[in-house]
Amino acid sequence: MFKKFIRIITFVDLPIRKKFMLFSIGVLFWFIVMFVISISANLDIDKKTNMIVKNIVPVDRTVQKITRKLQSLSIDAVEIANINDYNELDQKITASNARILDIKSFLTALHLGGQVNDINRENGELIESFSVSAPRDLPAAAEYAERLEPLVNNISLNLQTVADLKKDTLNKNAQNLAQLTESLAGYMKILASAISLSNTFSTSISKSYLHNSDQIRYATTFTFYTFTGVMVIATVLLLVFTISITHAIEIPVKSIIGQIRSLGAGKVDLTNHIVVRSKDEIGVLSRDFNTLTEEIHEIVTFKKVIEEDYSLDDVYARLGKAFHEKCGLDQFIIYEVWGSKNKMNPVYPIILNEKEIYCNEEILTNCEQCKVNKTGHTIASDTYTEICKQFKPELQKKHLCIPMIIGGSTGGVVQFLFDEGGYSENGNNKKLFRAEQYIKESLSVIEAKRLTNTLRESALKDSLTGLYNRRFLQEYTETLVAGVLRRGKNVGLIMCDLDFFKQVNDTHGHNVGDTILKETSDIIKKCVRSADMVIRFGGEEFLVLLLEIKKDEAMKIAEKIRKALAGTKLKTPDGTITKTISLGISEFPHDTDSFWQSIKFADVALYKAKETGRNKSVRFTEEMWAKDQF
Ligand code: GH3
Ligand code: MG
Ligand code: MG
Repeated sequence: MFKKFIRIITFVDLPIRKKFMLFSIGVLFWFIVMFVISISANLDIDKKTNMIVKNIVPVDRTVQKITRKLQSLSIDAVEIANINDYNELDQKITASNARILDIKSFLTALHLGGQVNDINRENGELIESFSVSAPRDLPAAAEYAERLEPLVNNISLNLQTVADLKKDTLNKNAQNLAQLTESLAGYMKILASAISLSNTFSTSISKSYLHNSDQIRYATTFTFYTFTGVMVIATVLLLVFTISITHAIEIPVKSIIGQIRSLGAGKVDLTNHIVVRSKDEIGVLSRDFNTLTEEIHEIVTFKKVIEEDYSLDDVYARLGKAFHEKCGLDQFIIYEVWGSKNKMNPVYPIILNEKEIYCNEEILTNCEQCKVNKTGHTIASDTYTEICKQFKPELQKKHLCIPMIIGGSTGGVVQFLFDEGGYSENGNNKKLFRAEQYIKESLSVIEAKRLTNTLRESALKDSLTGLYNRRFLQEYTETLVAGVLRRGKNVGLIMCDLDFFKQVNDTHGHNVGDTILKETSDIIKKCVRSADMVIRFGGEEFLVLLLEIKKDEAMKIAEKIRKALAGTKLKTPDGTITKTISLGISEFPHDTDSFWQSIKFADVALYKAKETGRNKSVRFTEEMWAKDQF
């Protein structure tokens, strides 16, 4: 759950571009949050400071001035009561009136806003001047002014009354003394209440000042903590994001580098699989890289396996299986090409009837006709329909034929077949690419195996006639015999020996003798099936093994050979000659259950043929053996 949350906030699964865009937006967001916090805190503090500086402080000072003036008026009143000099009295009254005027002007400023000019009445000097703004933000100030105004008017009137009564008293009008005392008391009382009002207001102003400064302090502290909190959250988020993003990028990239290095060194280690951590491009890269490693591993393993395969046919079969299972290609034929013999034949899958192939059968015996074979280039009907004339158009298939270049020439062809859409559909391109990797990997193995086969064959074949030699017989007898016995079949053995061959050498020379041996071997081969084996048993002796032959059929074949040779005019530099051959026949396991003995029996029969006049076929009989033993 927590991990999932972290994955979401770190955008692990988003494409890299989006990831970093959101990251930038995130950073910007936190910048904006911090900007908004600092601006709003500033504005709030500024507003409250303004309130203090522009409203509270000037109003407070004005009220203090009014209070001082009122207190001065009280002192004036006491003095007025005690003055005995007329002139002095007049001066005091004038001063008091001036103070009242000042108070009035201060009150106007408090009420409507304006300049407060405090002037020393004795010398006319300006003590202080400041402005008071209209008390919109401080309604208490206006209220105070409104309440003080009638009191001040009253003060003004009372001062007048006190002044008049005092003047009367000075004029010795004793009657007015009691009246004066009473008026003075009233005057003082009004002054006292005005002072008290001012003091009360002063106190409330102080409270307001304290309240505002408290708020400023509070706003400063709040801003500090919020800012710190936001900073901490943003830093933690950035840290988490940066760490997780570097993890998600760094670890897979490092392991990809490691894998590439070990691949470069030829090691494919599947245990080093890259862990896919995200669904972004890095995730895709890791997954694809894993697939690639697996594919390389499969191909490397494939090569190892085919290297250890016994025969070339096993290699072709495994290659075919790889096309099926690893590449998902189901329609194909692997051909083996023998350029020197101008032959090619399908080797996988096993094709019983030549007509089953997708090309004209002619290519099998004349492989020059096959375009890939001739050019050594890949031939695809997708690029150009009817690109190869040998491909049967009636099958309505598309083909792509890849040459297997072995030792500089085409040693094989892989023909892939596709239905109508061709190979560019259904991801066939990718499948073909893989198939080509498998082909490439198998080439060196096929080449090595073909070479070994050729070497083996040359050791087992006679160079003059191209027939199997006696060594072949020795090596393969066991396999051959086991197969024959297992299938319960019969093998016919014909031992052939040219009659008076020595004469040829003596008359025409050894070379002519060789030519005649070669021609004789060709004649014998033509008289038997391709599955039968013709072996050069000795100098001018040949052993024919007729596999799976019916009873007495060997005799017929022997006669066929004999007649064929006798009826052939053999060319020599001195003109044509004819030669005859004698043949001895035996059957295995009919005559004996020892294969080597049946060879001996055929030889005995041959001896019999020579003995009884040559140019004949003699079937071995038991009497011959008994007689020979004595
Ligand atoms: P027969 O009818 O009794 O078999 O008479 P033959 O002359 O064929 O028999 P023989 O065994 O006396 O002679 C066989 C000759 O075949 C001896 C040898 O010179 C010759 N020969 C054996 N191998 C070769 C070969 O590779 N090339 C040539 N030119 N001659 C060979
Ligand atoms: Mg001989
Ligand atoms: Mg002979």
